[in-house]
Parts: sequence; structure tokens; C-alpha cells
Amino acid sequence: MLLKDKRAIVTGASRGIGRAIALEYARQGANVVIGHPGNDTSKEEAASLITEIEALGRLAVEQGGDISDPDTGEALAQKAVDSFGGIDIFVSNAGICPFHAFLDMPRETYLRTINTNLNGAYFATLAAARRMADQGCGGTIIAVSSISALVGGGNQTHYTPTKAGLLSLMNSCAIALAPYGIRCNALLPGTIATDINKDDLSDEKKRQRMIERIPLGRLGRPEDLAGPAVFLASKMAQYVTGASLLVDGGAFVNLQ
Ligand code: NAP
Repeated sequence: MLLKDKRAIVTGASRGIGRAIALEYARQGANVVIGHPGNDTSKEEAASLITEIEALGRLAVEQGGDISDPDTGEALAQKAVDSFGGIDIFVSNAGICPFHAFLDMPRETYLRTINTNLNGAYFATLAAARRMADQGCGGTIIAVSSISALVGGGNQTHYTPTKAGLLSLMNSCAIALAPYGIRCNALLPGTIATDINKDDLSDEKKRQRMIERIPLGRLGRPEDLAGPAVFLASKMAQYVTGASLLVDGGAFVNLQ
């Protein structure tokens, strides 16, 4: 029970990495606000996650809203305050990666990606941080960045800058929020098999090529991010801020 009675918000928790983190937070004793886009499917996914969390004896509530709307972060923060009395942990996880070549990048795809992954994360982080600062008892913020913050991708020219931006946001927030006892860190997943890259990895040759480049010999699973997210949110990481943690099976260092 590393997070006993902590009050957490996880954005993009209806599926994939966010869902795995929310579930592990509950296993570790936290109560969780499940952020999701607010459509019919994500509402159903959030409802099923709430059932799973309640079966663990913890509390969970859902809050729908497009994270690219700058007001969504405030709604998430308010939900945590109304439901649990405050916020101790904020995980900025919601994101999209609509793979596309550079030279014919539709303006809409670029702007949607930036508005969701970076601008949305910025305003949601700000809303959570303001509440934590007012509470006066510290807190912890984790951004789900990516290995793509450190490396390029020919079909990800709109995506990699958002992930580098998130990493940079955590670096600066670590300094800005340290006086309030709020720690800020980034998780950098490698290739984790989720819906975000299902189409890209449906090419069996590409999938095998990716696996061969990973020293641990397999693609990541959403649960692989859960332990690191618990660690960074817990007291075990009490002197860790402004850090970035690659969770990639060794892919990044496997160059030579
Ligand atoms: P995923 O399974 O597609 O999950 C993404 C989550 O974000 C879903 O819950 C999704 O909700 C939500 N979301 C998307 N757009 C949103 C919006 N506008 N407003 C609110 N919620 C929104 O993908 P994932 O792999 O778990 O990705 C989670 C995070 O990890 C992303 O930030 C991604 O960039 C990062 N990441 C993933 C990998 C990887 O290999 N999978 C690697 C590095 C970093 P709906 O499903 O209902 O749309």
C-alpha cells in the first residue's frame, strides 16, 4: 500500500497505459478520478474501470471532457476536490499519435495533436498544481512523455515535439513547484502495445523489427508503466523531482 488514501487524477484513464496506472494506484490504496474524453465509449470504459476499482475496496469517479479544452483540467481538479477533498497525485497521460508523413501533414492533424498532447496537458497540470499549492501539503505530478521526446520519427513530426515539450514542462515545473513541496517527473515509455499504435504495429514485419531492437525481447505492456508510476508518486521517490524515467525494455540505449 504505497499510496494509501492518496487522492489521484489520471487523464486518459479509459484505456491503455492510463487505465493500468489508475488500477495499480487503486491496488496501492489510492482513490482515483478517471479522466476520459466523455464520449459514449469512453464513458462505458470508465464505468467498467470504476467497477474494477470499487471491487478493490477503493473509490473511483469519472470525469469526461476533451483534454484539449483548457477548461477540462479545472473540471478534473474540481471533481477530485468534490469527491475526495483534494488532490495528491496528478498524472497527465491522455494523448494521441495519428501517424502521418511530414510533407503532406494536414494542418488539422498537427494542431489537434499539439492541442491534445501539449496544450491540454499544460492547462490540466496548471489546474492540478494550483489546487496542490493551495492545499499546502505538497503533491506529485507525473507526465507520460515518451521515448519520442529523445528520438525522431519520420511519421511523428507532429507528435515528438509534444513529448519533448512535456518532458521540458516537467523540468520547469519541478523548479517552479518545489517551493510548494510538489515533485514533477516524466515517464518515457518505449513501444507499448496499446490502441495508439495498433495500426502501425499490425504490419508484422515492422512489429518484429521493433521487438528485435528491444534488449528485453518484447514490446511493452500497459502494466509495465504502472510500477514506475507508483514509484514516482510514492514517498519512496521523495527526493526525486525533475527526473525522467525511460520504461522501454532498453530500446533507447540499444544503438551499437
Ligand atoms: P491509448 O490506449 O490510445 O490511450 C489514450 C488515452 O487517452 C485513452 O484513454 C483516450 O481516450 C485518451 N484521450 C485521447 N484523446 C483524448 C482527449 N482529447 N481528451 C481526453 N482523453 C483523451 O494510448 P496509450 O498508449 O495508453 O497512450 C497513453 C499515453 O502514453 C499517451 O500520452 C501516449 O502518447 C503515451 N505513450 C504511449 C506509447 C505507446 O507505445 N503506447 C509510447 C510512448 C508514450 P479514448 O480512448 O476514449 O479516446
